[in-house]
Amino acid sequence: MSQLRCPKCGAPAIAEHGKQYTTCENCGTVIYIDRSSVIFNYIMPFILDEDKARAVFRRWCAGPSLAKDLEREAQITSVEKIYFPVFLFRRVVGGQEKSIIKPAKGTTLPGLQSQVIPPGDITVFDSTVSTRGAEVIQPEISVETYLADLPGTAKEQALLYLPFFVFRYRYQGTDYISVMGGTSGRVHTSGFPGRSAAPYALVVGGGFLLAFIGGILGFITTPIFYVLVFAGAALAMLTGRAVVRTPEGGDNK
Ligand SMILES: [Zn+2]
Repeated sequence: MSQLRCPKCGAPAIAEHGKQYTTCENCGTVIYIDRSSVIFNYIMPFILDEDKARAVFRRWCAGPSLAKDLEREAQITSVEKIYFPVFLFRRVVGGQEKSIIKPAKGTTLPGLQSQVIPPGDITVFDSTVSTRGAEVIQPEISVETYLADLPGTAKEQALLYLPFFVFRYRYQGTDYISVMGGTSGRVHTSGFPGRSAAPYALVVGGGFLLAFIGGILGFITTPIFYVLVFAGAALAMLTGRAVVRTPEGGDNK
């Protein structure tokens, strides 16, 4: 619902998406909507359902930068659907229209402070919209917090609820949280179980050490030790590559 009232009778009026005028249902007065000062409430419905989201999450777990047994070992402990509030400011800056996104609530959940609108349809959030079991997170930051620092002049401002899945999962005794866009399937994460770089460093380091020793020995004793330089460098490159490209690696099927 927009925060709009009929100027004649004071009844709450409904502003339709994209319309400049509305008619008061109580007294019939035509109301001009000044979109620069009214805050409209919009919502972006989920495109993914929970089953799809779980499948996308599994694929994400198999990704190349993550621990290689994550796909097998990660235990999803909960999947939560939420609508997270952001402010959408449309401003005219230097003759051009510009959209600015600001979070309407502080959060530690990864990805939710980012300032992009994911692809998806935006509709007016009124009583006819079903949130289908998703928790609607209420804004805690007021619009005034941002207004003073925004560039240009106001064209429209809105409170927009964006859909997300919050995955909580357990891997090797530690709990993790990832957040997935409810339309894009994009996964945001912080402190995720990454693939260990230790074996790679060890093998490559060993190879370079061998090359270094070969160089020294070749210089101070006999040039035959220079062979070790090439052997060491080759070892570093070949084995390093093999460690990175583990068979369980990350192809997303
Ligand atoms: Zn009225």
